[in-house]
Amino acid sequence: MALVPMRILLDHAAEHGYGVGAFNVNNMEQIQAIMAAADKTASPVIIQASRGARSYAQDNYLRHLMLAAVELYPHVPVAMHQDHGSSPDVCFSAIEQGFTSCMMDGSLLEDAKTPAPYSYNVEVTRKVVEHAHKRGVTVEGEIGTLGGIEDGHGAGLTGAEAMAHLTDPEQAAQFVAETGVDALAVAIGTSHGAYKFKHKPTGEVLKMSIIAEIHRRLPNCHMVMHGSSSVPKELVDIINQYGGQIPETYGVPVEEIQEGIKNGVRKINVDTDNRLAITGAIRKVFATKPGEFDPRGYMKPAREAMQKVVEERMIAFGQAGHAGQIPKVSLEEMARRYAKLK
Ligand SMILES: [Zn+2]
Repeated sequence: MALVPMRILLDHAAEHGYGVGAFNVNNMEQIQAIMAAADKTASPVIIQASRGARSYAQDNYLRHLMLAAVELYPHVPVAMHQDHGSSPDVCFSAIEQGFTSCMMDGSLLEDAKTPAPYSYNVEVTRKVVEHAHKRGVTVEGEIGTLGGIEDGHGAGLTGAEAMAHLTDPEQAAQFVAETGVDALAVAIGTSHGAYKFKHKPTGEVLKMSIIAEIHRRLPNCHMVMHGSSSVPKELVDIINQYGGQIPETYGVPVEEIQEGIKNGVRKINVDTDNRLAITGAIRKVFATKPGEFDPRGYMKPAREAMQKVVEERMIAFGQAGHAGQIPKVSLEEMARRYAKLK
Protein backbone atom coordinates (compact mmCIF):
# COMPACT_ATOMS: atom_id res chain seq x y z
CA MET A 1 0.00 0.00 0.00
CA ALA A 2 1.22 3.48 -0.76
CA LEU A 3 1.16 6.13 1.93
CA VAL A 4 -2.39 7.27 2.68
CA PRO A 5 -3.73 10.79 3.26
CA MET A 6 -3.81 11.41 7.00
CA ARG A 7 -7.42 12.61 6.74
CA ILE A 8 -8.52 9.05 5.93
CA LEU A 9 -7.00 7.78 9.18
CA LEU A 10 -8.54 10.58 11.24
CA ASP A 11 -11.99 10.14 9.68
CA HIS A 12 -11.90 6.42 10.45
CA ALA A 13 -10.71 7.12 13.99
CA ALA A 14 -13.57 9.58 14.52
CA GLU A 15 -16.11 7.16 13.15
CA HIS A 16 -14.92 4.42 15.49
CA GLY A 17 -14.01 6.56 18.52
CA TYR A 18 -10.28 6.06 18.79
CA GLY A 19 -7.08 8.11 18.50
CA VAL A 20 -4.01 7.65 16.31
CA GLY A 21 -0.49 8.11 17.67
CA ALA A 22 1.80 10.30 15.58
CA PHE A 23 5.37 9.30 16.27
CA ASN A 24 8.38 11.39 15.33
CA VAL A 25 11.30 9.93 13.42
CA ASN A 26 14.86 10.99 12.65
CA ASN A 27 16.44 7.73 11.51
CA MET A 28 15.97 4.21 10.25
CA GLU A 29 15.70 2.51 13.62
CA GLN A 30 12.82 4.74 14.72
CA ILE A 31 10.91 4.01 11.52
CA GLN A 32 11.57 0.29 11.99
CA ALA A 33 10.37 0.43 15.61
CA ILE A 34 7.11 2.14 14.65
CA MET A 35 6.40 -0.18 11.73
CA ALA A 36 7.12 -3.29 13.79
CA ALA A 37 4.78 -2.00 16.52
CA ALA A 38 2.05 -1.18 13.97
CA ASP A 39 2.45 -4.62 12.40
CA LYS A 40 2.26 -6.41 15.74
CA THR A 41 -0.81 -4.50 16.94
CA ALA A 42 -2.47 -4.18 13.50
CA SER A 43 -2.55 -0.41 13.81
CA PRO A 44 -2.88 2.37 11.27
CA VAL A 45 -0.18 4.88 12.07
CA ILE A 46 1.10 8.41 11.50
CA ILE A 47 4.84 8.89 11.13
CA GLN A 48 5.99 12.47 11.36
CA ALA A 49 9.15 14.43 10.76
CA SER A 50 9.95 17.89 12.04
CA ARG A 51 12.02 20.37 10.05
CA GLY A 52 14.94 19.38 12.26
CA ALA A 53 14.41 15.72 11.44
CA ARG A 54 14.25 16.43 7.72
CA SER A 55 17.52 18.28 7.81
CA TYR A 56 19.17 15.67 10.06
CA ALA A 57 18.07 12.65 8.03
CA GLN A 58 17.99 14.49 4.69
CA ASP A 59 14.81 14.37 2.62
CA ASN A 60 16.08 11.77 0.15
CA TYR A 61 17.02 9.27 2.85
CA LEU A 62 13.76 9.89 4.65
CA ARG A 63 11.69 9.45 1.49
CA HIS A 64 13.30 6.14 0.65
CA LEU A 65 13.07 4.87 4.22
CA MET A 66 9.34 5.59 4.15
CA LEU A 67 9.00 3.84 0.80
CA ALA A 68 10.77 0.85 2.32
CA ALA A 69 8.36 0.92 5.26
CA VAL A 70 5.24 0.71 3.09
CA GLU A 71 6.87 -1.87 0.83
CA LEU A 72 7.73 -4.12 3.78
CA TYR A 73 4.34 -3.68 5.47
CA PRO A 74 1.77 -3.30 2.68
CA HIS A 75 -1.06 -4.14 5.11
CA VAL A 76 -0.29 -1.21 7.45
CA PRO A 77 -1.89 2.12 6.48
CA VAL A 78 0.68 4.86 7.08
CA ALA A 79 0.42 8.62 6.76
CA MET A 80 3.62 10.67 6.52
CA HIS A 81 3.25 14.04 8.17
CA GLN A 82 5.29 17.22 8.35
CA ASP A 83 5.33 18.26 12.01
CA HIS A 84 5.26 22.03 12.69
CA GLY A 85 5.78 23.51 9.24
CA SER A 86 6.94 27.04 10.00
CA SER A 87 5.98 28.51 6.61
CA PRO A 88 3.95 27.54 3.55
CA ASP A 89 7.23 26.76 1.75
CA VAL A 90 8.18 24.15 4.34
CA CYS A 91 4.81 22.47 3.76
CA PHE A 92 5.11 22.70 -0.02
CA SER A 93 8.55 21.07 0.03
CA ALA A 94 7.22 18.27 2.26
CA ILE A 95 4.41 17.65 -0.22
CA GLU A 96 6.97 17.50 -3.02
CA GLN A 97 8.86 14.87 -1.02
CA GLY A 98 5.75 12.70 -0.88
CA PHE A 99 4.41 13.57 2.57
CA THR A 100 0.67 12.89 2.66
CA SER A 101 0.00 15.44 5.38
CA CYS A 102 1.49 18.63 6.71
CA MET A 103 1.09 20.94 9.63
CA MET A 104 1.11 24.65 8.95
CA ASP A 105 1.91 26.11 12.34
CA GLY A 106 0.85 29.70 11.80
CA SER A 107 0.46 30.24 15.53
CA LEU A 108 4.08 31.40 15.36
CA LEU A 109 5.75 33.67 12.85
CA GLU A 110 8.25 32.19 10.40
CA ASP A 111 11.03 32.46 13.02
CA ALA A 112 9.14 29.62 14.82
CA LYS A 113 9.41 31.62 18.06
CA THR A 114 7.19 34.70 18.03
CA PRO A 115 3.46 34.21 18.63
CA ALA A 116 1.68 35.38 15.46
CA PRO A 117 -1.47 37.44 15.09
CA TYR A 118 -4.67 35.56 14.25
CA SER A 119 -4.92 37.17 10.81
CA TYR A 120 -1.43 35.94 9.86
CA ASN A 121 -2.29 32.43 11.01
CA VAL A 122 -5.46 32.37 8.90
CA GLU A 123 -3.64 33.71 5.85
CA VAL A 124 -0.74 31.23 5.81
CA THR A 125 -2.90 28.26 6.80
CA ARG A 126 -5.47 29.00 4.11
CA LYS A 127 -2.67 29.21 1.55
CA VAL A 128 -1.37 25.77 2.54
CA VAL A 129 -4.88 24.25 2.56
CA GLU A 130 -5.49 25.49 -0.96
CA HIS A 131 -2.22 24.04 -2.27
CA ALA A 132 -2.40 20.78 -0.31
CA HIS A 133 -6.02 19.88 -0.94
CA LYS A 134 -5.50 20.15 -4.70
CA ARG A 135 -3.02 17.32 -4.23
CA GLY A 136 -5.14 15.33 -1.79
CA VAL A 137 -2.81 16.15 1.09
CA THR A 138 -4.13 16.69 4.62
CA VAL A 139 -3.50 19.90 6.58
CA GLU A 140 -3.23 20.38 10.33
CA GLY A 141 -3.39 23.91 11.70
CA GLU A 142 -2.79 25.27 15.18
CA ILE A 143 -4.72 27.80 17.18
CA GLY A 144 -3.39 29.08 20.48
CA THR A 145 0.32 28.65 21.22
CA LEU A 146 1.85 25.48 22.63
CA GLY A 147 4.33 25.69 25.45
CA GLY A 148 7.96 24.63 25.45
CA ILE A 149 10.55 24.33 22.72
CA GLU A 150 11.52 21.26 20.77
CA ASP A 151 13.93 21.01 17.86
CA GLY A 152 14.31 24.78 18.04
CA HIS A 153 10.58 25.21 17.50
CA GLY A 154 8.36 26.97 20.01
CA ALA A 155 7.72 30.22 21.79
CA GLY A 156 9.13 28.74 25.01
CA LEU A 157 6.15 29.98 26.96
CA THR A 158 5.81 28.81 30.56
CA GLY A 159 3.56 29.53 33.55
CA ALA A 160 1.10 32.41 33.30
CA GLU A 161 2.35 33.42 29.87
CA ALA A 162 1.60 29.94 28.51
CA MET A 163 -1.86 30.00 30.12
CA ALA A 164 -2.57 33.29 28.32
CA HIS A 165 -1.97 31.57 24.97
CA LEU A 166 -4.31 28.61 25.43
CA THR A 167 -6.80 27.92 22.66
CA ASP A 168 -9.99 29.97 22.78
CA PRO A 169 -12.83 27.64 21.65
CA GLU A 170 -14.71 30.42 19.90
CA GLN A 171 -11.64 31.45 17.92
CA ALA A 172 -10.97 27.79 17.14
CA ALA A 173 -14.40 27.48 15.53
CA GLN A 174 -13.81 30.62 13.51
CA PHE A 175 -10.34 29.41 12.44
CA VAL A 176 -11.60 26.06 11.21
CA ALA A 177 -14.35 27.76 9.21
CA GLU A 178 -11.99 30.34 7.71
CA THR A 179 -9.16 27.98 6.77
CA GLY A 180 -10.75 24.60 5.98
CA VAL A 181 -8.09 22.66 7.90
CA ASP A 182 -8.58 18.91 8.34
CA ALA A 183 -7.17 18.80 11.85
CA LEU A 184 -6.61 21.31 14.60
CA ALA A 185 -3.80 21.38 17.14
CA VAL A 186 -4.99 22.89 20.39
CA ALA A 187 -3.03 24.47 23.23
CA ILE A 188 -4.40 23.15 26.52
CA GLY A 189 -1.37 23.51 28.76
CA THR A 190 0.83 20.74 27.32
CA SER A 191 4.31 21.59 26.16
CA HIS A 192 7.00 20.00 24.07
CA GLY A 193 9.98 18.19 25.56
CA ALA A 194 10.45 16.12 28.72
CA TYR A 195 9.79 18.90 31.24
CA LYS A 196 6.07 19.44 30.95
CA PHE A 197 4.86 19.61 34.55
CA LYS A 198 6.56 19.81 37.93
CA HIS A 199 3.78 17.74 39.54
CA LYS A 200 1.23 15.29 38.26
CA PRO A 201 -0.99 17.66 36.22
CA THR A 202 -4.38 18.71 37.57
CA GLY A 203 -7.23 20.39 35.67
CA GLU A 204 -5.67 23.71 36.64
CA VAL A 205 -2.63 23.25 34.40
CA LEU A 206 -3.90 20.70 31.90
CA LYS A 207 -7.12 22.16 30.55
CA MET A 208 -8.96 19.17 29.15
CA SER A 209 -12.08 21.33 29.50
CA ILE A 210 -10.99 23.28 26.38
CA ILE A 211 -11.09 20.08 24.33
CA ALA A 212 -14.57 19.25 25.61
CA GLU A 213 -15.78 22.77 24.75
CA ILE A 214 -14.33 22.68 21.21
CA HIS A 215 -15.86 19.24 20.70
CA ARG A 216 -19.24 20.63 21.79
CA ARG A 217 -18.99 23.47 19.27
CA LEU A 218 -17.33 21.48 16.46
CA PRO A 219 -18.29 17.81 16.83
CA ASN A 220 -16.66 16.95 13.48
CA CYS A 221 -13.32 18.66 14.13
CA HIS A 222 -10.35 16.30 14.46
CA MET A 223 -8.27 17.67 17.32
CA VAL A 224 -4.56 17.09 17.79
CA MET A 225 -2.76 16.91 21.13
CA HIS A 226 0.87 17.99 20.94
CA GLY A 227 3.46 17.45 23.63
CA SER A 228 1.57 14.36 24.73
CA SER A 229 4.31 12.12 25.94
CA SER A 230 3.51 10.64 29.33
CA VAL A 231 7.16 10.72 30.49
CA PRO A 232 6.82 7.45 32.45
CA LYS A 233 8.90 7.35 35.61
CA GLU A 234 10.28 3.92 34.72
CA LEU A 235 11.86 5.27 31.51
CA VAL A 236 13.41 8.23 33.33
CA ASP A 237 14.63 5.88 36.08
CA ILE A 238 16.53 3.65 33.61
CA ILE A 239 18.37 6.67 32.24
CA ASN A 240 19.26 7.91 35.72
CA GLN A 241 20.18 4.46 36.96
CA TYR A 242 22.83 4.23 34.25
CA GLY A 243 24.44 7.62 34.66
CA GLY A 244 21.85 10.02 33.22
CA GLN A 245 20.66 13.16 34.95
CA ILE A 246 17.01 13.79 34.22
CA PRO A 247 15.29 15.77 37.00
CA GLU A 248 11.91 14.63 38.32
CA THR A 249 9.30 15.52 35.71
CA TYR A 250 5.72 14.69 34.71
CA GLY A 251 4.06 14.30 31.33
CA VAL A 252 0.46 13.93 30.19
CA PRO A 253 -1.11 10.87 31.87
CA VAL A 254 -2.44 8.33 29.37
CA GLU A 255 -5.87 8.52 31.11
CA GLU A 256 -6.09 12.23 30.24
CA ILE A 257 -5.31 11.46 26.60
CA GLN A 258 -8.02 8.80 26.64
CA GLU A 259 -10.41 11.42 28.02
CA GLY A 260 -9.39 13.67 25.11
CA ILE A 261 -10.08 10.88 22.63
CA LYS A 262 -13.63 10.65 23.99
CA ASN A 263 -13.92 14.36 23.16
CA GLY A 264 -12.67 14.48 19.59
CA VAL A 265 -8.89 14.13 19.87
CA ARG A 266 -7.83 12.00 16.90
CA LYS A 267 -4.07 12.55 16.63
CA ILE A 268 -1.70 12.32 19.57
CA ASN A 269 1.90 13.41 19.12
CA VAL A 270 4.46 11.35 21.00
CA ASP A 271 8.19 11.94 20.70
CA THR A 272 9.79 12.38 24.13
CA ASP A 273 8.75 8.95 25.44
CA ASN A 274 10.48 7.28 22.50
CA ARG A 275 13.60 9.40 22.98
CA LEU A 276 13.68 8.39 26.65
CA ALA A 277 13.26 4.70 25.81
CA ILE A 278 16.07 4.79 23.25
CA THR A 279 18.42 6.72 25.52
CA GLY A 280 17.80 4.45 28.50
CA ALA A 281 18.45 1.31 26.45
CA ILE A 282 21.70 2.68 25.04
CA ARG A 283 22.90 3.90 28.44
CA LYS A 284 22.18 0.49 29.93
CA VAL A 285 24.34 -1.27 27.31
CA PHE A 286 27.15 1.26 27.73
CA ALA A 287 27.08 0.88 31.52
CA THR A 288 26.72 -2.89 31.69
CA LYS A 289 28.84 -3.88 28.65
CA PRO A 290 31.63 -1.32 28.51
CA GLY A 291 33.44 -3.46 25.93
CA GLU A 292 30.62 -3.13 23.38
CA PHE A 293 31.58 -1.20 20.28
CA ASP A 294 29.31 -2.62 17.59
CA PRO A 295 26.52 -0.06 17.04
CA ARG A 296 24.09 -2.94 16.54
CA GLY A 297 24.85 -4.01 20.12
CA TYR A 298 23.09 -0.91 21.46
CA MET A 299 20.87 0.15 18.55
CA LYS A 300 18.98 -3.15 18.62
CA PRO A 301 17.94 -2.85 22.29
CA ALA A 302 17.18 0.83 21.65
CA ARG A 303 14.89 -0.07 18.77
CA GLU A 304 13.18 -2.74 20.88
CA ALA A 305 12.65 -0.33 23.77
CA MET A 306 11.03 2.21 21.44
CA GLN A 307 8.86 -0.46 19.82
CA LYS A 308 7.53 -1.43 23.26
CA VAL A 309 6.51 2.17 24.05
CA VAL A 310 4.86 2.60 20.66
CA GLU A 311 2.92 -0.65 21.04
CA GLU A 312 1.68 0.42 24.48
CA ARG A 313 0.49 3.77 23.11
CA MET A 314 -1.21 2.15 20.11
CA ILE A 315 -3.18 -0.08 22.45
CA ALA A 316 -3.99 2.77 24.88
CA PHE A 317 -5.14 5.13 22.09
CA GLY A 318 -7.38 2.44 20.59
CA GLN A 319 -5.86 2.35 17.10
CA ALA A 320 -4.74 -1.28 17.55
CA GLY A 321 -6.72 -3.74 15.47
CA HIS A 322 -7.96 -1.18 12.92
CA ALA A 323 -5.25 -1.50 10.24
CA GLY A 324 -7.30 -3.80 8.03
CA GLN A 325 -10.39 -1.57 8.07
CA ILE A 326 -8.97 1.64 6.63
CA PRO A 327 -10.47 2.41 3.21
CA LYS A 328 -7.89 2.55 0.43
CA VAL A 329 -7.99 6.13 -0.81
CA SER A 330 -5.27 7.58 -3.02
CA LEU A 331 -4.12 11.19 -2.95
CA GLU A 332 -5.77 11.65 -6.37
CA GLU A 333 -9.10 10.38 -5.10
CA MET A 334 -8.77 12.57 -2.03
CA ALA A 335 -8.07 15.60 -4.24
CA ARG A 336 -11.28 14.87 -6.17
CA ARG A 337 -13.22 14.71 -2.90
CA TYR A 338 -11.88 18.08 -1.77
CA ALA A 339 -12.71 19.59 -5.17
CA LYS A 340 -16.26 18.33 -4.90
CA LEU A 341 -16.67 19.74 -1.38
CA LYS A 342 -15.57 23.14 -2.65
ZN1 LIG B 1 4.18 19.88 18.48
